[in-house]
Amino acid sequence: MAPFVQTVLGRIDPAGLGFTLPHEHTQCQLWTIPERFDYWELTADEELVAAELERFRAGGGTCLVDVTLPGIGRDPAWLRGLAARTGLHLVMGTGWYREPYYPPDALVDRRSVAELAAVMVAEFEEGVPGSEGPDGARVRPGIIGEIGVHKPWVSAQEERVLRACGRAARATGMAVTTHAVLSPVGLRQLDILEDAGADPRRVVIGHADSYPVLDHWLAIVARGASIECDFLGMAFTPMERKGEPRVIELILRLLERGHVDRILLSQDVCDNSQLVFYGGNGYAYLQEAFLPRLRAAGVGEEEIRRITVDNPRRILSIG
Ligand SMILES: [Zn+2]
Repeated sequence: MAPFVQTVLGRIDPAGLGFTLPHEHTQCQLWTIPERFDYWELTADEELVAAELERFRAGGGTCLVDVTLPGIGRDPAWLRGLAARTGLHLVMGTGWYREPYYPPDALVDRRSVAELAAVMVAEFEEGVPGSEGPDGARVRPGIIGEIGVHKPWVSAQEERVLRACGRAARATGMAVTTHAVLSPVGLRQLDILEDAGADPRRVVIGHADSYPVLDHWLAIVARGASIECDFLGMAFTPMERKGEPRVIELILRLLERGHVDRILLSQDVCDNSQLVFYGGNGYAYLQEAFLPRLRAAGVGEEEIRRITVDNPRRILSIG
């Protein structure tokens, strides 16, 4: 079978993907989680989110990967409606986010690795139960993730989920994308995924820009996995607000060493404050601000195309 990308509206030829954001959210609610008392969420106002996405599309964007998982707001019907409305290719994730956010009905602490993997494989093969559209078709995921750990270590339940993801990746051909913040824990995620059967070339270690340490980035790409700088334009912490020159510096170091095929860029829009409407940098920050800075730092158009088009297309291509 020819390779395909599994979008929320069905399979497409990977050649149909141009500029792609590999790690975003169009829907997210964290304040509904027990023991979480802030009001972190991305509004379910379709009018507003569609207008925000239009900036990305108008700037040449074609595809966005929504890595919101069950328990924090994944909504297949929402994604299908948004894809139809915006004309963007949207790819949905599968799996479970990180331990404090595992939905009770996922029964992560009771099910075996094989049972958890089977849930993801079934979503891939048959679609998400209850997501039938007017034509009866279910929405299917096109990537595993974002799969996280809550701390700089992997908890027992998180290890179980990671092992299930490794198995599901091997069984389906989907790539795995992770949440690994402020620490080298992404290498541990990679160890577990690989041990469970995932091909490291199909693994993306996310949020690498929150741990801008060259040796760590090099250790990941040396294993064949990709590093993803996906907090670009984020401004919650001083480190995020002021850390971009350091991230650009490290990207240049990777490019010098020939690792252009192992770099992904995104913005992880996940809270209302990141929307342009509310004063944030929005979904078009790469096009409007970050890529011009990369160009100014000497990165050529060919390299930018490989990073923003070819790399996400390869990660999303199945089969
Ligand atoms: Zn994350």
